[in-house]
Amino acid sequence: MRHNANGDGLEVLLRALKLPSFVACHAGVAEQAESQGWNFKQYLSHLAEQELEERKQRKIYRLTRLSKLPREKILATFDMSRMSDKVRRRVSSLCEGDFIGRAENILAFGLPGRGKTHLICAIGHELISRGYNILFTPAYSLVQKLLIAKRDLCLDKELRRLDRFDAVILDDIGYIQQEREEMEVLFTFLGERYERRSVMITSNLVFSQWDKIFKDPMTTAAAIDRVVHHATILELNGSSYRNDVASKLIKVNS
Ligand code: ADP
Ligand code: MG
Repeated sequence: MRHNANGDGLEVLLRALKLPSFVACHAGVAEQAESQGWNFKQYLSHLAEQELEERKQRKIYRLTRLSKLPREKILATFDMSRMSDKVRRRVSSLCEGDFIGRAENILAFGLPGRGKTHLICAIGHELISRGYNILFTPAYSLVQKLLIAKRDLCLDKELRRLDRFDAVILDDIGYIQQEREEMEVLFTFLGERYERRSVMITSNLVFSQWDKIFKDPMTTAAAIDRVVHHATILELNGSSYRNDVASKLIKVNS
């Protein structure tokens, strides 16, 4: 093929190569290169870096949308000074995502309002920024979805769809309807992911209370076993963030 010096022809080529950032920036960067005396290699590197960066940003945007993570629950809005040293240390290494490669789990325990959901979501966002595929779901709604899939004889398909996610966040595992069917699909889901894919769970219920979720002692023990076998446990103690904010407001207003 003859090289076409004409800009339109070049853009067709760049589009065919799926290089949208080259298309958008090549002319502007060419001007910049000229004014700063860049050589061809510098010019090309600059464009390639820009293309890669844009690609990364698009991927993060896509993963964030897919994840259903609440947008505002990020590390920047989380007051880490309320956490114990142990939790603080763990969180920074969890955000690197190595536990995902090892198909390990995270469990965040604590009474309501301690920041379990916020912290787990913040870790989720950090993982996405490193390219991991994360799904956030209230535990009860995942269970409802699995029940519908089971009724429609496509539980396997639904589990395979969930398999695409490097980690599934199950928020509030204690708030699941106390029916046998619900417990069964949840148990199937946890068993399916065991040692293959990560789960990140938040719960107000400590393990000794998990029989409220899984009913009979055998299933409870088996579920705990699967979840805990390779897991980091984050205990969020301290006072309720909501109550502290409320009492500060009361003080200000009185
Ligand atoms: P839990 O899941 O433990 O019940 P949440 O994560 O829902 O608690 O926290 C309750 C509210 O308080 C949320 O609006 C959350 O953003 C906020 N919150 C909790 N802990 C912190 C914190 N350490 N820094 C900033 N906001 C927090
Ligand atoms: Mg919560």
